[in-house]
Amino acid sequence: MKKILVANRGEIALRIMRSAKEMGIKTVAVFSEADRNALHVRYADEAICLGEAASTASYLNIQKVIDACKLTGAEAIHPGYGFLSENPDFARKVKAAGIILIGPSPEAMEIMGNKLSAKAAALKYQIPLVPGTEEAITNIEQAKERATSIGFPVLIKAAAGGGGKGMRLVHQVEDFEEQMKLAISEAESAFGDGAVFIEKYVTSPRHIEIQVLGDQHGNIVHLFERECSVQRRHQKVVEEAPSAVLDEATRAKMGKCAVDVARSVNYTGAGTVEFILDADKNFFFLEMNTRLQVEHPVTEMITGVDLVKEQIKIARGEVLSFSQDDLSIRGHAIELRVYAEDPANNFLPDIGTLKTYKTPKGIGVRVDDGFEQGMEIPIYYDPMIAKLVTYGKNREEAIERMLRAIEEYQISGIETTLPFGSFVMQHEAFISGNFDTHFVAKYFKPDVLKQQNNEEERIAAILAYRLFTKSSIQNLVAAGQQTSNWLRNRRNW
Ligand code: ADP
Repeated sequence: MKKILVANRGEIALRIMRSAKEMGIKTVAVFSEADRNALHVRYADEAICLGEAASTASYLNIQKVIDACKLTGAEAIHPGYGFLSENPDFARKVKAAGIILIGPSPEAMEIMGNKLSAKAAALKYQIPLVPGTEEAITNIEQAKERATSIGFPVLIKAAAGGGGKGMRLVHQVEDFEEQMKLAISEAESAFGDGAVFIEKYVTSPRHIEIQVLGDQHGNIVHLFERECSVQRRHQKVVEEAPSAVLDEATRAKMGKCAVDVARSVNYTGAGTVEFILDADKNFFFLEMNTRLQVEHPVTEMITGVDLVKEQIKIARGEVLSFSQDDLSIRGHAIELRVYAEDPANNFLPDIGTLKTYKTPKGIGVRVDDGFEQGMEIPIYYDPMIAKLVTYGKNREEAIERMLRAIEEYQISGIETTLPFGSFVMQHEAFISGNFDTHFVAKYFKPDVLKQQNNEEERIAAILAYRLFTKSSIQNLVAAGQQTSNWLRNRRNW
C-alpha cells in the first residue's frame, strides 16, 4: 500500500494522514469547495476537489470519491468517521472497483448498522441486552402493551438511528401513541427507514464503550473502555479512559462481551462496542460502531497503540502484532470536544471566524484539530473545532492538566465548549466519578458560566486599576498572587 485516499475532512483527515506519513504511505485528500484552503488539503501529497460545499455533492458522493481514487492511483480509502464510513453500499462499490476499504466488511457494517440486527447478532453469544422488543414494532396497541409490560419509562428508538437522533423518551402510557408516531416520522425523514423499537429506559445510565481490533485471520482483542457519559442531546462532549468506576472484574467481562459481539460478525478493523451501565453495574449492549470513533485518542493515550496504524496494517492483511495479554492500561486520558457551540445558549452551534486561535502546549497535551487562526468554521459540516486531550499518570493529574490546557486555549470570535469543559473538570460529581448521562441536565445551568465571566471581568478590572495607579514591583507581585488565589478558588464548583 503506497498511497491512500482519505475520504474525510478536518481533524480526522489530518489525524489519519499523520499516521500514514509515519508509515511511509502517500496521502490523497478530497475536499469540497468550502474546504479549498483547509489544513487537510494542504497536508496531503495530492488533493482532489469533489464538488460543491453540500456534503451530498462532495464528501457523500460515492462515485466522485471512487473516481478520485482511480485518478490518483490510491490503492485504499480511509473513510474516517461520519460521512461514508458506515455505509455498506459505499463499501461494496469500493470493493467492486478493486480498491481496499480500510474498515470492516460491508456485511459487518450492514448488520451492525441496524440496531435490531445488531442485537440479533449479539444474542448468538448471550450478550446482555436492554429489556425491550427485539423486532420492529408497527402495531400501536401491541407496542403499548409491550411498553407497559417492560415498565415505563421506555425509549422508542429508530432501528437505523445514530448520532442521538430518532430517540424518544416516554414516561407514561398516555403519551405513548403520540410519541411513537413522532418517532416513526422522525426516523423516516432522518434515516429513510421508519422502523422503531422499544427499550427500557435505564435509570442513572452510564455510557461505557469498548474499543476492539480484529485482523483478517480471526484474532480479535479489546483495548479497554472509554467512559462517555457527559453528553448533551444524547451526544458526547467529554470522554475518558479508563472509566472512573469500572472494577477489574466488570472490565474483563465487558471486554470479553465486546470481543464476542465483534466475533458475531467476523469483524475486521477497528470498531467500538457500546454498552450502557446501570447504577448496580449491570451492563447491556447498545450497538456497535463499525469505524474509528471521534474519541479514539483517549484509548491511544492509555494503551500506547496507534489505532489508525493498526487499521492500515489490518487492511494490508497483517496479523495483529499483539495479543490480549500484551495490552494494559497506563495512566489516564480525558478528551474534551471543542465545539463551535454556545453552552450558555443550549449548546446551539455558533458559526463564525476564529479571530484568535492559539492551542495549549506542554506535557501531556494533545490537540487534534483542523483549523488555524483566521479560518472560518463552515456551516455545512459538524461544528467541532478540535479535540483537546490530556494525559496524566492518574485521573487527578489528567483533570488538572485539562484545566490548565483549557486556560491556555485561546479562541475568540465564536463561543465554544471550552468554558463548559472547565465547569465539568471542576464539578464535584465529575471529580468524584459519581455521575451519569444526566450530568448536564442535572448540574449545568448556563448562569454558572455567566457568573464566571463576570467574576473574570471584575478581577481583570481590579488588576488593571492597581497596575495603572501604582505600578510598583510589590503591586505586580500582589496582583499575581491575587490571580492565582482566584484561579484556585474558582475550582470550588
Ligand atoms: P445513537 O446510535 O443515536 O448514538 P445509542 O443507542 O448509542 O444511540 O444511545 C445514545 C445515548 O442515549 C446513550 O449514550 C445513552 O446516553 C442514551 N441511551 C440509549 N439507550 C438508553 C437506554 N435504554 N436507557 C437510558 N439511556 C439510553
